[in-house]
Amino acid sequence: MIPRTIFSSDHELFRDSVRKFLEQEAVPFHAQWEKDGHVDRALWTKAGEAGLLCSHIPEEYGGMAADFLYSTVVIEEIGRLGLTGIGFSLHSDIVAPYILHYGSEAQKQYYLPKLVSGEMVTAIAMTEPGAGSDLQGVKTTAVLDGDEYVINGSKTFITNGWLADLVIVVAKTDPKAGAKGTSLFLVEANTPGFSKGKRLEKVGMKAQDTSELFFQDVRVPKENLLGQAGMGFAYLMQELPQERLTVGVGALASAEAALQWTLDYTRERKAFGKAVADFQNTRFKLAEMATEIQVGRVFIDRCLELHLQGKLDVPTAAMLKYWTTDLQCKVLDECVQLHGGYGFMWEYPIARAWADARVQRIYAGTNEIMKEIISRSLV
Ligand SMILES: Cc1cc2nc3c(=O)[nH]c(=O)nc-3n(C[C@H](O)[C@H](O)[C@H](O)COP(=O)(O)OP(=O)(O)OC[C@H]3O[C@@H](n4cnc5c(N)ncnc54)[C@H](O)[C@@H]3O)c2cc1C
Repeated sequence: MIPRTIFSSDHELFRDSVRKFLEQEAVPFHAQWEKDGHVDRALWTKAGEAGLLCSHIPEEYGGMAADFLYSTVVIEEIGRLGLTGIGFSLHSDIVAPYILHYGSEAQKQYYLPKLVSGEMVTAIAMTEPGAGSDLQGVKTTAVLDGDEYVINGSKTFITNGWLADLVIVVAKTDPKAGAKGTSLFLVEANTPGFSKGKRLEKVGMKAQDTSELFFQDVRVPKENLLGQAGMGFAYLMQELPQERLTVGVGALASAEAALQWTLDYTRERKAFGKAVADFQNTRFKLAEMATEIQVGRVFIDRCLELHLQGKLDVPTAAMLKYWTTDLQCKVLDECVQLHGGYGFMWEYPIARAWADARVQRIYAGTNEIMKEIISRSLV
């Protein structure tokens, strides 16, 4: 195996502490959270205390000013343990950067420490019942009325939506201006007119509180605009490579874990008087998966290096998102097969991970949209 070289001993120490935290605070409760449809709210504040949230945020806003590899460690450990209800990465690596990069000084000072501590859980609401891939079709509006914006519309499929205390809402401030009429708003969950719909019943990621959100004459001070009016689409495009990198990092961690579980299982399980791992078909499948995971690992680590240097471009991030999530689903499917009927039983981590993986090809931009982005850079 090609050794990983991107992490320092400090990163590895951090990994040990993240692993211990998750094994203690999350693993024993995951099955119950799947039944509840959300993780325990207290997990967020415990994670904040343990330094798992928003580690990249500068010290003046309560963070550790850590590099992106600390976030990578958190995503990898969550992926390795199959804890798909925990929306830390969306909060730390997707929402917090919008506030850090485009927020006013007052917004940064007020919100970022609360995100670091877990006092506030966050979400980002782009998708609507009628607009997913085609974000220019967003119908939610934000109309300036005196010193306030009035927001009307509805969102769906919002990760962390049910627990969220603060949501970045994508809305049209100038519906006739297309992408240039799109803006981002910070909306707190207790704002009158903002309500949460049901937690959506999903085929996987059952412990994740994916929700509908409704906005009916929600009035927010005009200071809650994030960045400049009309720049929302540009901000989204700017931040998406990191979002896609986080999805790829999680995908590969999940595939690696699945391969390990399958190695363990097929060595133990007997059929026709020998271990399932002794059949040539099993050995070849394991060899193929290990090879493809290794290829993915090298690609991801190179993308992480580029990202640390600020050089991960949009098409490469799209390649990474599409290829690693396709690989994850392929590996998980093969691993279920090698588990036989037990691979289809919810009590087996492989069954859960298989169901949880499927959405990775759909959110953060579908893999078809990723191919559109890549092809645009080619032709
Ligand atoms: C569990 C989960 C969590 C999510 N979390 C969030 C979140 O936190 N915030 C948020 O805003 N959204 C979230 N989403 C929404 C997600 O990003 C969208 O579902 C996704 O972007 C696809 O949009 P859609 O569902 O409307 O599908 P559609 O856009 O209707 O796509 C349907 C099909 O058409 C294909 N298609 C569409 N356009 C093209 C094209 N130009 N070329 C080729 N094929 C195309 C798609 O690839 C797909 O196969 C989440 C979704 C899920 C399921």
